[in-house]
Amino acid sequence: MVSGKLEDGSEKGLKGHFKEDFSHRTRIGLAPRAGHVDRDAPYKRIATEEAWTFPDLVKAQVDYIESGDAPANDDSLRMGGMFAHMPSLQEMLQDLGDLRIAHMDELGIDRQLLLLTAPGVQVVRPGDGTPLARQANDIAAEACRNHPDRFSACAAFDPRDVAGSVKEIERAMGELKLNGAVLNSHFQGHYLDEQDYWPILEALEAMDAALYIHPTAPFNAPHYEDRGFFGALAGFPHDVWLHTMGLIFSGAFDRFPKLRLVIGHMGECLPLHLYRFDWMQGNADGRTHLRGGTQPKLKHPVSYYFKNNIWITTSGVGWEPAIKFCQEVLGRDRVLYAMDYPYQQSYDEVAAYDRMDMDAKTKKMLMEDNARAVFRINS
Ligand code: MN
Repeated sequence: MVSGKLEDGSEKGLKGHFKEDFSHRTRIGLAPRAGHVDRDAPYKRIATEEAWTFPDLVKAQVDYIESGDAPANDDSLRMGGMFAHMPSLQEMLQDLGDLRIAHMDELGIDRQLLLLTAPGVQVVRPGDGTPLARQANDIAAEACRNHPDRFSACAAFDPRDVAGSVKEIERAMGELKLNGAVLNSHFQGHYLDEQDYWPILEALEAMDAALYIHPTAPFNAPHYEDRGFFGALAGFPHDVWLHTMGLIFSGAFDRFPKLRLVIGHMGECLPLHLYRFDWMQGNADGRTHLRGGTQPKLKHPVSYYFKNNIWITTSGVGWEPAIKFCQEVLGRDRVLYAMDYPYQQSYDEVAAYDRMDMDAKTKKMLMEDNARAVFRINS
């Protein structure tokens, strides 16, 4: 996984943590060649999609599965159960101190933005999600207080409890001074574009909290699982694709024009299609049978929302041509660096960012400045 040797030539450190589950991985295809992380880079590396969890949440997910009460087709919850049984992964996810910081130091990461990992609090027994979100946000805030120069964090919430989510977003952004909010996409096949959940969008806008929609396994998805790609190869990006386009076509950004959305994995492939989205939106407006559904006519072309309400991160896609394309079509202020620790961490990938042929100002925006702006990181 961490395919480059450390600067001192040793192979200890991170490698040991991946032996159990990931040792089969080797460099293939377009993965970056071995490289050297610049310890004197003229930018801080702020990684903006870095995962964590805590024991009570893992237990709540496992207990709900084992109780037999959980919906059998909630593949997102089942994914949580699978992660729960990977001890090396859990050790990294659950550490918000020495182990995580040692890995950050090895990889050259100055600061992590902590996101409660998928599937999060929205898959546990109804009623348990908001108390677990409060606990998560207290733990994350404590980590940020303990390491103010290394951690920032987004607030978790359980959207099934709308009033509880509004209250918790207000508490997390106010009292706890967290840096935004995170939702691991759908909740039992529901999405924030459904108007029942719009008080949450209203609270996010009012509290100036950027919402990071992170992937999870799609709901009721044997058609993904049977083909071996319910995760990052298809199920994850497709679900965030649906969530993002749902928010746009519901008119949510027209109703809440200051609402800010962040999506990872190079915008889950959406930026590559902006031209066609605008074309087809114009073609189908006023002729709803062409699109299906009863979507309102939007105030703007789809591309407008990508240039005004949406930011993307590079999590898992440390690939120069894709990054440059997105900087060009979205604006260089809209593309943020992310690693996706601990799921996809690579010393060579960090080195590849250092090597990217990009002017110094744009590189610093990518690695540091845009994250500070979007997540209001001042320290
Ligand atoms: Mn991730």
